[in-house]
Amino acid sequence: MTAFRTLEDLDVAGRRVLVRADLNVPLQEGVVGDDYRIRASLPTINELRDRGARVVVCSHLGRPKGADPAYSMGPVAARLGELGGFEVVTAADVAGEGAQAAIAGAGPGTVVVLENTRFEAGETKNDPALADALAALADAFVLDAFGSAHRAHASTVGVAERIPSAAGRLLEAEITAFDRLLHDPDRPYVVVLGGAKVSDKLGVIRALLPKVDAMLVGGAMCFTLLAAEGYHVGASRVEEDRVDDVREVLDGPDGAKVMLPEDVVAAEEFAAGAPHRVVPAGRIPGEAMGLDIGPETIERFSAVIRGADTLFWNGPMGVFEWQAFAAGTRRVAEAVASCGGYTVAGGGDSVAALRAFGMDGAVSHLSTGGGAGLELLESGSLPGIDVLKTT
Ligand code: ADP
Ligand code: MG
Repeated sequence: MTAFRTLEDLDVAGRRVLVRADLNVPLQEGVVGDDYRIRASLPTINELRDRGARVVVCSHLGRPKGADPAYSMGPVAARLGELGGFEVVTAADVAGEGAQAAIAGAGPGTVVVLENTRFEAGETKNDPALADALAALADAFVLDAFGSAHRAHASTVGVAERIPSAAGRLLEAEITAFDRLLHDPDRPYVVVLGGAKVSDKLGVIRALLPKVDAMLVGGAMCFTLLAAEGYHVGASRVEEDRVDDVREVLDGPDGAKVMLPEDVVAAEEFAAGAPHRVVPAGRIPGEAMGLDIGPETIERFSAVIRGADTLFWNGPMGVFEWQAFAAGTRRVAEAVASCGGYTVAGGGDSVAALRAFGMDGAVSHLSTGGGAGLELLESGSLPGIDVLKTT
């Protein structure tokens, strides 16, 4: 099991504590969309406030090229204050005079939110000067952004190396959940993968196949696997440059653990209202593309999922955003929700699907990290976790 510092290990009363949260929420013309990530950051912030800390929060937001008012943390900070029921002030910059002034002027109980960390070019380069400036703002540091823990940035790893640091409650829960997947999982251990691109997930497929009992693959990525097996996938999405890599995995010692769809819902155009029909996954007509898994596949996948004692799910089974192609993802979500084993779901779109179906409460752990979770399963740790380890 991973041994790492938590909030118990930090002395925070009366001290300035910088929290790196993941407040990267969808923002449209200054209005916060889904505020799930803001809510998820509250337990750590509230605990620190209750213990008398002077809390400073930072996060990245979107992908601005330098300082850009369209990506200001202002609206996010306002929502944080509403949801948390505390005073919030937004600093005028990330770690400069604006941040210093905001922190110096904040009364007890007020939460200071720094500007978008991506306003600083040094953030993604883990620039020592930016890490020094962030570290100078606080007496202790708490990393709570699991979704950013796979990146060694100034606001994740850089600052953690410079002042006493620990994992927040959200990161702690993520590490604990992934430990159960990584170390001695209860069996059968089943992994369900879907989503857009096999190239995003080849690393994790390779790393997990020897460890799992079954790997069910749907989504657009299954067509590259079907193509590698020599099947006719019609106009379905195939990553041609990955077919050889995929074939190597499927022909390898654990290739037989991969379960592919036997039927798919296919359409002749990529559109919400496109006419569609169920066809065999290995004989998709030339002009048709698979946009969801079919009913027989749903039954077979669901049975394997319900029989799992440990389960990890990442990536929707089809274009679930469109009603006509949502059944595969919905039924897989239902099977995951009714599975009595230990279940973890991750990935922005898969989690969005679970929440849209109202089934997010039925999984053992809903991960806030997509890429971070995959990278953790692939390599066993993350840069943001390594800096918090005690052994
Ligand atoms: P996650 O965010 O859960 O990791 P991804 O980002 O990898 O998932 O993939 C999600 C996207 O994949 C969704 O927008 C979905 O519409 C798309 N998708 C799933 N199945 C297909 C398919 N058969 N053809 C095209 N796109 C698909
Ligand atoms: Mg996604």
